[in-house]
Amino acid sequence: MVHVLIIGGGIAGIHVLQDLLSRRKEIENAAGGKLEITLLKKERSGWLSTCGLPFALQDIYEIETTEITKAEEFVEQGVDFRTQTEAVELNTDKKSVRLLSGEVLKYDFLVIATGRTPVLPKAVEDAMNNVKRVHTFNNEEDAEQIYASMKNAKNGFVRGRGIIALQTAVAFAKRGIKTTVLGGPPSLLPSMLDADMGDILKEYLEQNYDIRFILERKEIKALNADDEGNVRSVLIEGADGEEEIPADVVVIARGSRPNTELARSAGIETGESGGIITDKAMHVRKKGKFLRDVFALGDCVEVVDAITHKRRLAQLASAALVQAGVIADNIVSEISGEARAYSTYEPCTSPTIAAIGGMLVGSVGITSEEARRNGIKVLAGRAQKVSKARYFPGAEKINAKLLFDAHSERLLGAQIVSSAEGVAERINELNLAIKFGMTAKEICMNERCYDPSLALLKDVFVDAAENALKA
Ligand SMILES: Cc1cc2nc3c(=O)[nH]c(=O)nc-3n(C[C@H](O)[C@H](O)[C@H](O)COP(=O)(O)OP(=O)(O)OC[C@H]3O[C@@H](n4cnc5c(N)ncnc54)[C@H](O)[C@@H]3O)c2cc1C
Repeated sequence: MVHVLIIGGGIAGIHVLQDLLSRRKEIENAAGGKLEITLLKKERSGWLSTCGLPFALQDIYEIETTEITKAEEFVEQGVDFRTQTEAVELNTDKKSVRLLSGEVLKYDFLVIATGRTPVLPKAVEDAMNNVKRVHTFNNEEDAEQIYASMKNAKNGFVRGRGIIALQTAVAFAKRGIKTTVLGGPPSLLPSMLDADMGDILKEYLEQNYDIRFILERKEIKALNADDEGNVRSVLIEGADGEEEIPADVVVIARGSRPNTELARSAGIETGESGGIITDKAMHVRKKGKFLRDVFALGDCVEVVDAITHKRRLAQLASAALVQAGVIADNIVSEISGEARAYSTYEPCTSPTIAAIGGMLVGSVGITSEEARRNGIKVLAGRAQKVSKARYFPGAEKINAKLLFDAHSERLLGAQIVSSAEGVAERINELNLAIKFGMTAKEICMNERCYDPSLALLKDVFVDAAENALKA
């Protein structure tokens, strides 16, 4: 018998479980016995798509719809799937995990997929327990509470300018809630977009959803509540003084930190970014040694950036999915002794897309600000075009930006803000271009397919590459 214990039932933990279940026979043959899998998670759900939750707030479907597989369905497949269960202690020497209930579980392989925790401004942390209708947005329980608070709300306040914050602001605005978004300078989605690209999105959201943006170095000073304890306004403070903003629903989505307390208390090492350190095989490190029977993945680990080579957080479902496959391969490899089964998680480019209202945003690789911080000189080129021949009905605008290494002219980053479909495919294509080291010239000379109803003869990204070469 071989026992795999997974702590965490978010996208990361669930995908390790799915990968192991799909290879059950192979594992059992190699182990010469049964594969037992236990999964622990704090929430009530089985496999739930966290990424689908913001769209449920926009009434595109109900929150329940995002539960793809119920816990009972995993139990029927022979998994010891435990919801509303918390692990409180790890012992990697004894190969055991203690639960809040006191029960101790032994493992042959441990997978840590404990995710992230929202970061709260100090004033909110203090007030959160006393003031109602103030929420973080991390899981389905948060989504349910936000949804309930949105009912009858007239004024909404969102702290944060990332994807989750903006999708929440759009959900508020679609309900007719007058919405204010507080974030830092200079513009929106700074980990994805340069300020000039972020401003295109900002202008779109101001014009189409009447959202007010305060993108300044300001922080929440206090949450004011009525006699029943419901939030009624947010007091924000900056160098130029204070402002009280009416709000009867508040969402704090200004970032999150990796959930690593459990791992750290067992001596597992974390890095500068705060995430758990792993090797390429996703083994965790303890006292300078990588443990062959303990893996970690998802929002709780740090990754190596493919462009800067620095360690950072990825915190994307897309990264967790690939890491899950690596871990499944390496568990199979450990059990079977087959070196060929082994695989590695390579440095990360973070291809990212998001639908923010009717605008689609995508990015991959580095931004200009990130390049500047890392001493990388870039050539930048921007272009705006339409998605198909301008005489063809339904042509939509595409704004594109490419960043190339100033010396080698190799692609380092790509950004897109567009009302046209196809953003995901473009970002995936540009991710490959970064990975295979394409230069600006090669992008200009690359033959592309053409049909006036589907594409332009000369693509917007070819113009962006040409503009970068002229820069
Ligand atoms: C609202 C929202 C929208 C998003 N949209 C996108 C998107 O469109 N695209 C994209 O790529 N990414 C998106 N993300 C990010 C993506 O969801 C995460 O990167 C991904 O879910 C990583 O999941 P995880 O399993 O590592 O962490 P989590 O989802 O945080 O799961 C952690 C799990 O660990 C469990 N856990 C923690 N500690 C313990 C303990 N001590 N004992 C037992 N269980 C424990 C928790 O209960 C939970 O089940 C979004 C995130 C949010 C919050």
